[in-house]
Amino acid sequence: MLVVVAHAALIGGLIEACREVIAANADHLSELDRAIGDGDHGTNMRRGLEAVYAERNRLAELTLPKALEEIGLILVMSVGGAAGPLYGTLLIETGRQLAGSNGQIEFARALELAITAVARRGRASPGDKTLLDVLYPVHAEVVRRAGLAHICAEAERAASLTFGMRAMRGRAAFLGDRSVGHVDPGAKSCALLTAAICRFLEEHCPA
Ligand code: ADP
Ligand code: MG
Repeated sequence: MLVVVAHAALIGGLIEACREVIAANADHLSELDRAIGDGDHGTNMRRGLEAVYAERNRLAELTLPKALEEIGLILVMSVGGAAGPLYGTLLIETGRQLAGSNGQIEFARALELAITAVARRGRASPGDKTLLDVLYPVHAEVVRRAGLAHICAEAERAASLTFGMRAMRGRAAFLGDRSVGHVDPGAKSCALLTAAICRFLEEHCPA
């Protein structure tokens, strides 16, 4: 059933959907991180999303660009590890690009510039077995204006493809070839968040 929601409810609802999916999968994310990292990715992400959730009423009153920027700042401060600054950069840059252009820039272009900033910050490239291996394919789907269900499926598929990759960045890179045969935790959290966002938008926003 489609329920059209107002701006504040949209931001608040998206925050709640993201918090829920991370809380439900935190143990699994940490388990993935135990295999090729230090086992804290689920805990880190849950802490971050709880911090954002705690501020949801204030955040829901902001414009979308400002809310994205503020959420990014909260994630930088609360998630920690490698993922905090990277997710933070993604949201802060998307928000700043959207705000700076006075609405002239398309969301796809803002996302592209933000992903480029994440890659620069992590000194990572496609195929390095990181959350970027989900972000690039998701962006490609947004550019070709794919439907939300398709974007969601592509994010899940992209995360599963990290199983066969050798980690080149982050803690997992220390394992070299032994990092092959495991899904990257950051790629998985990115796919889960993308899926939660797509499902929420599909239910609450008209095309
Ligand atoms: P930490 O590795 O510091 O314990 P987390 O466990 O929270 O941090 O996050 C690990 C995830 O962060 C990885 O699975 C990967 O997706 C992502 N990551 C780590 N280093 C980089 C990097 N240099 N560039 C892009 N993504 C990275
Ligand atoms: Mg970790």
